[in-house]
Amino acid sequence: MRIILLGPPGSGKGTQAQRLVQRYGIVQLSTGEMLRAAVAAGTPVGLRAKDIMASGGLVPDEVVVGVIADRIEQGDAKKGFILDGFPRTVPQAAALDDLLKHKHLKLDAVIELRVNESALLQRVETRVAEMQARGEKVRVDDTPEVLTKRLAAYRSLTEPLIHYYSERRKLLTVDGMMSIEQVTREIARILAAIDAADAKAAEKRASAKPAARGAVRKPAAKRAKSSPAGRASPKKAAKAARKAAKRPVKGKKKPVKKAGRKLAKKGAKKVTKRRAKA
Ligand code: AMP
Repeated sequence: MRIILLGPPGSGKGTQAQRLVQRYGIVQLSTGEMLRAAVAAGTPVGLRAKDIMASGGLVPDEVVVGVIADRIEQGDAKKGFILDGFPRTVPQAAALDDLLKHKHLKLDAVIELRVNESALLQRVETRVAEMQARGEKVRVDDTPEVLTKRLAAYRSLTEPLIHYYSERRKLLTVDGMMSIEQVTREIARILAAIDAADAKAAEKRASAKPAARGAVRKPAAKRAKSSPAGRASPKKAAKAARKAAKRPVKGKKKPVKKAGRKLAKKGAKKVTKRRAKA
């Protein structure tokens, strides 16, 4: 399983990524963590990233793409991964597409955690207070001033990815204002629907294969209708997941928005309205 978690700072990507690691046994690839490690180790990447990160800006695309390209090559990422904090720009997303295509790998889903911006500052303040209470070192970019800049970077450079992945029918949006447990359940439900659609498509392909040598081949028109060998159609998987995302779960709020170009536009309008009110 290969998933991208998309959302502004403080939307809960890191928390949900850790839960997915436990559930699916796949690795969490957080570019923020990798860059912080590079800064701490004083590597050439770290030296380039240090001041940019401290000020709340984005590290150049070629630097982060290089970091991710190397990391995906490692053995523990073979089973799958959750990208947390990458891609953050459209060129990064295009570079990821190329990387995956080159390796014949499929991206299963992009899960957007949609949150109310006015709640983010409060969340980050709580996170900082909790870290301080545990005696942990607080991130230099977790101050209200830098957070404002990180949010601005998200809005201008990362939010266009919502449209990018929506157009590619990969985007699924979850209401990140629900409780951590509810968000986890919602993500699990989406991923289960994708898995089920993949399995169904694989079954269909297997039963469509000629049973033995010399078996009579289907006419060309029928052959063209069967799905290609390999994996489930991502469109079908995304469709099934969208359908699942539409089903309300008892006792919890509905997800804010479902995938799809039309719905993405509606959702974007809602967000603009909400922002205007905030
Ligand atoms: P995060 O831990 O994801 O909030 O990232 C912390 C900081 O690392 C960001 O504010 C950026 O300065 C940098 N960073 C992390 N991921 C990326 C990325 N994909 N592209 C550019 N900069 C990044």
